[in-house]
Amino acid sequence: MIKVHNTLTGTKENFTPREEGKVGMYVCGPTVYNYIHVGNGRAYLVFDIIKRYLRYKGFKVTHVQNFTDVDDKIINRAQEENKTVAEITRKYEQAFLDDMFALNVLPPDITPRATEHIPQMIRMIEKLIEKGHAYQVDGNVFYSVRSFPEYGKLSKRNLEDMRAGERVEVDERKRDPMDFALWKSAKPGEPAWDSPWGKGRPGWHIECSAMSLEYLGMGFDIHGGGQDLIFPHHENEIAQSEGYSGESPFVRYWIHNGFVNINEEKMSKSIGNIILVRDILEKYHPDVLRMLVLQTHYRNLIDFGVEALEEAKKAYERLENCIFGVSELLEKSTLKVAPAGTQREMELAEYYMETETRFEEAMDDDFNTPRALGIIFELVKELNTYVSEQSAFPTPAGPAIAKLGQDTLVKLCQVLGLFTFLQEEEASELEEEQEPSESGKILQAIAHGHSRKLPSPEELIDLLLDIRTKFRNRKDWEMADYIRARLEEMGVKIEDRREGVRWKVE
Ligand SMILES: [Zn+2]
Repeated sequence: MIKVHNTLTGTKENFTPREEGKVGMYVCGPTVYNYIHVGNGRAYLVFDIIKRYLRYKGFKVTHVQNFTDVDDKIINRAQEENKTVAEITRKYEQAFLDDMFALNVLPPDITPRATEHIPQMIRMIEKLIEKGHAYQVDGNVFYSVRSFPEYGKLSKRNLEDMRAGERVEVDERKRDPMDFALWKSAKPGEPAWDSPWGKGRPGWHIECSAMSLEYLGMGFDIHGGGQDLIFPHHENEIAQSEGYSGESPFVRYWIHNGFVNINEEKMSKSIGNIILVRDILEKYHPDVLRMLVLQTHYRNLIDFGVEALEEAKKAYERLENCIFGVSELLEKSTLKVAPAGTQREMELAEYYMETETRFEEAMDDDFNTPRALGIIFELVKELNTYVSEQSAFPTPAGPAIAKLGQDTLVKLCQVLGLFTFLQEEEASELEEEQEPSESGKILQAIAHGHSRKLPSPEELIDLLLDIRTKFRNRKDWEMADYIRARLEEMGVKIEDRREGVRWKVE
């Protein structure tokens, strides 16, 4: 059972989606007026890792992520660059897609643009007015926070504290200083749409309510974003969506990732310490940035800097060296067949299975990636030791056991989105490859036995004899005799009879 920290309740809860086996996930997308920085990049990597893990666990995930393509910041940017709003939004939308592709973030299933959902937003606002949750002043529409008694339930604030704590501008049009705009009347030169309140444009918060409800409906499973979005953005989304539908909850699990500091300072324009994702990718492999994100629990703060990047790079290279170390061993090996392994090798095969289970336990616990990585690095250590042993003293089953370990390592890395490029390479190689090797089949049989119920010694002897018969049929006497000799060493006497092979323990 996966456990998820839900910002709404402030506790770790069992994850039970609305519909069995399916997950609807909405992640707040970018406001497209600039290249994304590492703080934004972290959020998209975090939700990519969560999505990949949910898929690995067998959920069918529908991921919706919007583009905010109408906003004050976009309009300002267009004026600065002397371009149209559309020119700005298309340019930075493409830049965002390029950055996500470079980061190996799986594309969302649906990417709605705010400007293509204005009618849905207008319908919502009309209904909010009708229900007394919103009011119109001179072509603007505001949400009345006092009409929604639960306002503040996500961010755990009450209205009194908010009024005292926030530096709210005095706006005489508002009934309460905390009321926020659902619709803004048009100023000259700005993009505007017709509405029952005159020409104007939507506020930011209503965009996400309208688009998430359009594609996922009330009560969907996961709403994600950075912690900076809890207030006011997500608080307002709840007020809008629950006020509009009269139903609760709008979202079952609210998941928020932590901030990224740059050299112990908050990243901000005024300090001038903003670092863009694309600048990092010029110097580092995208998996290094992913590794850096994985090394910290998604809810904790990351202190980003050259040191952290170099550390992540080292960790990534340790994985890389281990994977390629096994490949090198396999290339050198001429043995095509692996008979029964040693006691240690059988234990190793079992350890690989346990590693997978422990990895899942870590990830099930609120996507604890640092713990999952710890388990992966234990495996790396074991595998490295085994590879050096094998280089000095090869055993018949060595290559197959090493390969099984490598497969486990690569598989777990790929669940986290690391080394997925190997998948593509493998897929093209597999097309040329034929049947799995005999050693692979034996190990698969043993491995399957371990993961469910251990096979009995009798079953294993039968399996070995079955394989021996296959060798005999191919007239591979050498291998057939080898199996016979090894079994006899263990006291298993074999008799070849006309009706088949019989065995007894002497
Ligand atoms: Zn949003």
